[in-house]
Amino acid sequence: MDLYEHQARELFAEHGIVVPRAEVTDSAARARGIARGLGGRVVVKAQVRTGGRGKAGGVRLAPDPAAAERTARRILGMEINGHPVRAVMLAEPVDIDAEFYVSYVLDRASGTFLAIASAEGGTEIEEVAAARPEAVARIPVDPAEGVTAAKAAQIADAAGLPPEAVDVLVRLWAVLTREDALLVEVNPLVRTTTGQLAALDGKVTLDDNARFRRERWGAQEATHDDPLEAEAAAKGLNYVKLDGEVGVIGNGAGLVMATLDVVAGCGARPADFLDIGGGASARIMADGLHVILSDPAVRSVLVNVFGGITACDAVADGIVQALDRVHLTKPLVVRLDGNNAARGRALLDARAHPLVHQATTMDGAAQQAAALALAANPS
Ligand code: GDP
Ligand code: MN
Repeated sequence: MDLYEHQARELFAEHGIVVPRAEVTDSAARARGIARGLGGRVVVKAQVRTGGRGKAGGVRLAPDPAAAERTARRILGMEINGHPVRAVMLAEPVDIDAEFYVSYVLDRASGTFLAIASAEGGTEIEEVAAARPEAVARIPVDPAEGVTAAKAAQIADAAGLPPEAVDVLVRLWAVLTREDALLVEVNPLVRTTTGQLAALDGKVTLDDNARFRRERWGAQEATHDDPLEAEAAAKGLNYVKLDGEVGVIGNGAGLVMATLDVVAGCGARPADFLDIGGGASARIMADGLHVILSDPAVRSVLVNVFGGITACDAVADGIVQALDRVHLTKPLVVRLDGNNAARGRALLDARAHPLVHQATTMDGAAQQAAALALAANPS
């Protein structure tokens, strides 16, 4: 789960990282009083869980409380990268001498944590990283050793950060580990004109499995970059969008993962991961099919179910009922095996939908779904 900037900075402050004074509100009228309390001149910042707010006009300086109210009203009416702005943070402005970038991220590819840091932080960090990768230091961090002062000095040195950054780097590592985060990022970490280091922005992604997260932040809605994933999450589906053309539905994460591999082995690419678990109800089937069929890249759908506790006839019944709720526009290949498979197949045969095909083996079903997807005209 991604935290909002104001939540991230709360964690930073608790771990002794300097953040400018700030307050959050969802009301433009209240923004005026808050600005007065912060000294009149403030930075008004959209609170949305997406980057690039500055470039989108979601971070603006207001010279006085009346301007803060006007600016807050304008930003509260914005949508940034598809995220409606529901709250703004008003922060005491700081005079910036230099902007740095620092982050720790769990790097699954290398199986460890990475410190990423640059002396050229700010809104152009992606461009800097693309044009001059050498300007961004990437240093592996062994989680068993963590970021000691010596390790932090190595990171600061590699990135060209000032010596005062060592203390911030050690504290930021504490945020990552103590808060069960998968990512902590400060961009920009600034040196003010008075020589102090302060975190002007913060991004924290917490591990959804962490007990701490649930206790402190509760059931805050998850963030989904993909609209289909957002729709699926809202419907309680265990869905991950992928880039291929064969939609996949299965029961049990292991079976679905294996199905993705088999589809790939047939020369096609899976369009999603969708595990219906033990739930074969018509609603889950209809919701799952609806999400998958909404993906314009999908050209066929493969339902792969091995009936255990969930009997195949219950799954077939769910599919038959779902066919009445969802307008099937693409071929559907169903493979039912295991508990009550024969009865399940008979139910689907009786429904005799022209776009529904049945296969008896997983390989056969994947081959058929892949062939149908590759034969279909890209729409
Ligand atoms: P982002 O665009 O979503 O990453 O939002 P940031 O919070 O990082 O703000 C974008 C940019 O606005 C920063 O890189 C700073 O250059 C600038 N900015 C943000 N807060 C302040 C501030 O208090 N004072 C000044 N001078 N600039 C600020
Ligand atoms: Mn930023």
